[in-house]
Formats: sequence, C-alpha cells, structure tokens
Amino acid sequence: MWVSVMKDENSLLIQNGRVVDPSQNLDETASVLILNGKVAKIGKDADTAAKTRKGIEVFDASGKVVCPGFIDMHVHLREPGFEHKEDIASGTKAAARGGFTSVACMPNTNPVTDNSGTVDLIEHKSRMVGSVNVFPIGAATLGMQGKDLSNVGELVEAGAVAISDDGFPVQNSYVMRRVLEYAYMFGICFISHPEDTTLSAEGLMHEGYYSNLLGLKGIPAASEEVQISRDIILGEITGTPVHIAHVSTKGGVQMIRAAKERGVKVTAEATPHHFSLTDASLVSYDTNFKMKPPLRSEVDREAIIEGLKDGTIDCIATDHAPHSENEKTVEFDKAPFGVIGLETAIPVVLDKLHHSGILSLSQIVEKLSVNPARILNLKGKGSLKEGADGDVTILDLDREIEIDPRTFASKSRNTPFAGWKLKGAPAATILSGTVVFSATGKA
Ligand SMILES: [Zn+2]
Repeated sequence: MWVSVMKDENSLLIQNGRVVDPSQNLDETASVLILNGKVAKIGKDADTAAKTRKGIEVFDASGKVVCPGFIDMHVHLREPGFEHKEDIASGTKAAARGGFTSVACMPNTNPVTDNSGTVDLIEHKSRMVGSVNVFPIGAATLGMQGKDLSNVGELVEAGAVAISDDGFPVQNSYVMRRVLEYAYMFGICFISHPEDTTLSAEGLMHEGYYSNLLGLKGIPAASEEVQISRDIILGEITGTPVHIAHVSTKGGVQMIRAAKERGVKVTAEATPHHFSLTDASLVSYDTNFKMKPPLRSEVDREAIIEGLKDGTIDCIATDHAPHSENEKTVEFDKAPFGVIGLETAIPVVLDKLHHSGILSLSQIVEKLSVNPARILNLKGKGSLKEGADGDVTILDLDREIEIDPRTFASKSRNTPFAGWKLKGAPAATILSGTVVFSATGKA
C-alpha cells in the first residue's frame, strides 16, 4: 500500500535571499512565495501567506541572490536537424544548469524555422523534454536565403517571438527593408547579425595585428559596422525595433549609442566571450576561439565594457553555438565558427563584470532578465512582481568554480573558457515554482 503525499506542485517559498529585481526597484532581503507557478507574494507577507498553506516546499536562499529568471535571447538548440551537436533536451538542460529559465532559439535548423510547422515542433518538443522555457525565433527570409520573405504572420501566430536570419544575414538592402516593414505589422523585433559578407568573405579571425602575425585571413570591423549602420537606418525609416546581436566592435557600440540618443528603436546585446577575450587568444590556433563575429582587439573589448556600463548594450546573450568535437578538432581554417556559452555565462559575468566592479547586480539582472523579456515581449517574464511567472534564478556570489567542459550537460564542449577559475555561479534555477537545477544536487 502506498500513501500519496499532498504536495503543492509548482509552489515554493524562497526564504531569506537578497532579492534583486530592477523591474520593481527592489534590492533587499525578502521571501518570495510562488503559488501554482506564479509569484503570489513578496516580502514579509510571503512568509505569513505560506504559513496558511500546507505542503509548501521551502528553499533556503540565505546568503544568496534571488533574481527574476534569466533569459538567454540568443542560443542555437540545433533541433531539428543537427542533433549530433545539441538537441532541445540537452540544450535546455545546459540552460537550467547555467542558471537560465528561458532561452530564445535561432532558426538555422534543418528544416529552417521559416514555417509554423517547425515552430510547432520546437514548442511541442520543448514541452515534452525541455528543462526551461523555449521561445523560437522565426527566419526572416525563406530558407534564410535572403531573397523571399518568410510568412511572418504565420510564424508569429505559431509563437515566434522575433525574426532573424542570424548567421545568414540578409545582404540585399531592399529585401531587408521589406523584412522590417513586414515585422512592423506584427509588432515584433528583427534581430540583426550584423555582417556584410562581401567584407568578411573568407576571413577567419579579426583583421588586425594578430591576423597579420598569425597569417590568418582577417574579418574587418567594417564588415560589422557597415551592417549595423544599414540596419539602424532601415529600422529608423520603418519604425521597426532592431536588435543588434553580439556587437563586437568599438564602431558598432558608437553607432548604437548615437542611434539611441536620437530615439531610434535599437537595442543590442554582447556575449561573455566578446567582453572577456580578445584576438590575442588566437595565438594558440585553438578552434574554441573561432566564432562570428570574431574576438576583436583590446580597444574593441573595452568599448563593449563601456557600452555595457552606460546602457548602450541592453543585454548579455551567449550565442550558444554547439559543434561536435570532431567538427572542431580540425585545422583552424576548416573548423566551423561558434562556441557554447550557456553553462559558463553567469560565472564569467559575475567574476568579470560584477566582482571587478564594472556592473552592479541590478544592472546584471537588467541585462540578463528584464531587458530580454522586454525586447522579446515575453509576458510574465523579467520580473518577480506579484502575478509574474514563478521563474527564478538564484546566484551564489561567493562560490568559486573551475570550468570543466567534461561536466557540461550540453552535448558539445567547444568553450573558450575551459580551465578558467571564476568566482560566482548559479545556485539554483526555478521554473514556475519547481527547482529544475540546484548546485547542491537536489534537482
Ligand atoms: Zn549570429
């Protein structure tokens, strides 16, 4: 005979943590009560309200930081089509372990996410096997070919939260204008991977001192800046919000700053690798430093840091781009571009941006939760206000870790951060009131 234990599913009392939620200007020790997957109470009332209900699980967050769930708005989950690199189960598990409660996934799947069927498939699979929320991004053009527009209405109807051709950026400016006009009708943003491919051409790394030294063909900063400037101009004349992905150059940061100053609806993201590494790393010819846009010069890296500090760069996103070991373990010129980031982002952010005094915790939460939720229009996300979704990221600012790719939940190991010793890590990831990851091994 078995006895069923009455347990309040999707309900949790998170006690005694330092709650940092810039969406309501909050930074204080408080409890958060989640009932039926939604934030029910915050503050002293949360403890009182929890007492009146039986069976509520308690998460002791003493000494930890409690934040609205982190959102990585730029990942490649590789499913459907490239499941040897990653799939929805492994990619979302990596996200949960990395402290993210939501990810938005890019459309360069096979088939390309340019139709409602593929959006449906990703959503269905995510509900079945996903550890975190998955928000598909639809392709801007059919097959990401840069010629014919995809059916944006159909994609939005199916659940796409933005459109982008990410790694296959639209080169034809006329097509780009039409894409933006189409996106405007549905109130969603266009995510620009800014690269003029006639300028980046066969380039392998940033064009500069180190590309000359190493004899590798360069990708000029101009290939990024030309496209940022075009997409800002087209965003301005169409009125469509344009989000610049993975900005990597000083010129790019300056153009985004200037556009924001004159009121253009432009937002931007930077990756942990672009604010913490430079092209000097390439001297090892290690293909785990090969990505697009490439690691740039120290001057560019400092400009990214400035952009993060003054708010020119709204978000931190990983551009998690898994590739299998045998794809990356080849000659430098033959290896595919891209590195993974879901399981390293938060330690890199906390160590390199927070402990070094560059960003406050509240700025970090804005860039990893509040702003991505706003840009992608994700209702109930990016906040711990009463009624919001019970998605929570809990941080341990003091935990010291060493990045060991062998422990990753991701199917791939292509990280540029292997062996790094960092201070600060996710302590737990809570999805709709359920603990989906805990550093103590509880979930
Ligand atoms: Zn990209």
